Amino acid sequence: PVILAIESSCDETSVAICDNGKITANVIANQTIHENYGGVIPELASRVHQQNIVPAVQQALAIAKIQKKQLDGVAFTQGPGLLGSLLVGVSFAKSFALALDLPLISVNHMQAHILAHFIDEPMPKFPFLCLTVSGGHTQIVLVKDYFDMEIVGETLDDAAGEAFDKTAKILNLPYPGGPLIDKYAKQGNPKAYQFPEPQIKDLNYSFSGFKTAILYFIRDSQKVNPNFVEENLADICASVQHSIVNILLNKLKKAAKQYHCTQIAIAGGVSANSGLRDTLMSLQDSLGWEVFIPKFEYCTDNAAMIAIAGYHKFLQNDFVGQEVAPMARMNF
Ligand code: ATP
Ligand code: MG
Ligand code: FE
Repeated sequence: PVILAIESSCDETSVAICDNGKITANVIANQTIHENYGGVIPELASRVHQQNIVPAVQQALAIAKIQKKQLDGVAFTQGPGLLGSLLVGVSFAKSFALALDLPLISVNHMQAHILAHFIDEPMPKFPFLCLTVSGGHTQIVLVKDYFDMEIVGETLDDAAGEAFDKTAKILNLPYPGGPLIDKYAKQGNPKAYQFPEPQIKDLNYSFSGFKTAILYFIRDSQKVNPNFVEENLADICASVQHSIVNILLNKLKKAAKQYHCTQIAIAGGVSANSGLRDTLMSLQDSLGWEVFIPKFEYCTDNAAMIAIAGYHKFLQNDFVGQEVAPMARMNF
């Protein structure tokens, strides 16, 4: 089957085509308007989706060299995400499917982040553990099958991506700051400063106290030296990144032991972080893990992951009707 997929949960308008399990187009229109505000403004995001969606669909069809009449299904992100943003994608998908008489496939954005691992080889074998770390979520997921997933640990407050972005904000870096922290961290000493590891039970995370610790640390250091941040930016970024990666991986190690899992994957925007990727790779041998890391373009939001999820749902005849509606919060 040939599936057209729409992703519009946050601030990326993305359209992809999946042709029998192969991604033949993955168009991503990034929204730059939010940079001026230090975060995504929902009302602006939905308006830009509205402008981007038709050109993105046309571009994806052109890149994949596919005619509308060759399509077999339309997949879309139903949630979780910003309601106004989701509405644009869901409404478009419904109209498009209605006009072309195509079946509709609803996709959960967080499942899709994980299913990005099934776009290219090597693919993890079920069951595997996936650490999903993104702008809004931090979850350890036991993946038993394509659509049989169980959250075994998650953040009780901020997501890992927020920990990166909020630290970046404290350091006066533009939004989203995660990739910039990654960039400056490359020239810094990860052991320069220590931050306390949150003491949270089970396989859960917490990043709100961590963020406050950084805020106070920077404030106190700047009392002594007003140029503290500028003079030590690389060391600060390297140390913060090192701490976040340690917090993430300590619970992942615990989960791997508890669930006797050696197939370990990461997903979501923060899985683009080089500190996380490198540390995970270096642990692989000593822990006896087989580690799966998505290609960069499939870490942050993209419709290719929606398309591959849609493809597997199509194979299972899992379709939805025209009454389907977006869901800002959505469980597996
Ligand atoms: P969710 O998937 O939870 O709904 P989202 O879709 O907004 O949230 P993603 O697009 O998956 O999130 O990820 C965006 C997040 O990833 C941002 O917080 C961004 O800072 C972070 N991020 C992207 N690249 C890097 C990097 N190299 N290092 C650290 N963080 C990064
Ligand atoms: Mg984004
Ligand atoms: Fe996402």
